[in-house]
Amino acid sequence: MSLTGKTAIVTGSNSGIGLGVARELARAGADVVLNSFTDRDEDHALAARIAEETGVTARYIKADMSKGADCRALIEQAGTCDILINNAGIQHVAPIDQFPVEKWDAIIAINLNSAFHTTAAALPMMRKAGWGRIVNIASAHGLTASPYKAAYVAAKHGIVGMTKTVALETAREPITANAICPGYVLTPLVEAQIPDTMKEYGMSREDVIKNVMLERQPSKEFATVEQLGGTAVFLCSDAAAQITGTTISVDGGWTAL
Ligand code: NAD
Repeated sequence: MSLTGKTAIVTGSNSGIGLGVARELARAGADVVLNSFTDRDEDHALAARIAEETGVTARYIKADMSKGADCRALIEQAGTCDILINNAGIQHVAPIDQFPVEKWDAIIAINLNSAFHTTAAALPMMRKAGWGRIVNIASAHGLTASPYKAAYVAAKHGIVGMTKTVALETAREPITANAICPGYVLTPLVEAQIPDTMKEYGMSREDVIKNVMLERQPSKEFATVEQLGGTAVFLCSDAAAQITGTTISVDGGWTAL
């Protein structure tokens, strides 16, 4: 699959799944735009390393996905967007009656609202180019729920719904919109949940991984960022041209239970 000549913007891609997806898209030939809300030398160095490894053009653009204007500015600043990967996301774990309001607002803003703003800004560019792929990184929590994750589950169900609507609005055009629903992937986002979950359930780190996280994942293995990147590349391929408005689970069988 060659994505040479296409430009991919991956939100929240200086770490974890976003970085893995950006790397796989670059390996497939796409020029990539990395993003997060920081502007450190190491952020730009990540883009330089991808360019060096793959020979594509790779840039890093700072934009805070919790702010609508920043989301739209990211797309404008990139100048072109053939492939949009809405990946930026955060998590907070707490019972709903103790869920901090500012955490609820931040999760809805970053995990859901940002995709509305970037999609709205990117679609005219895709229409002008006559081709486009929108891939939203949802979650198994876009299809099912877990306790203590009210905001995350709400945002991820929301993005699955928005994906379907965007697919219907673009159905007659060479543009597709789909969501990838990963199970657990051992990224910094998941690492950060382990201490709270240990406290919540009174368990050791090993028991949280085995009995809470991978308990839901029948394969008993974490999915990898490379597997998610490969799935995104597939959704950008010609073979996936009629796949739109749907979800692809990469969850070791979680949602088959
Ligand atoms: P991560 O913490 O490694 O990466 C999150 C990325 O989002 C980082 O690059 C971070 O800098 C960026 N980000 C956070 N706030 C931002 C903001 N305000 N503006 C711009 N960027 C921001 O986590 P991850 O596990 O790689 O998560 C990536 C996506 O995958 C998220 O949407 C997450 O919900 C989803 N996901 C993760 C898992 C998992 O098990 N790791 C499972 C299902 C879905």
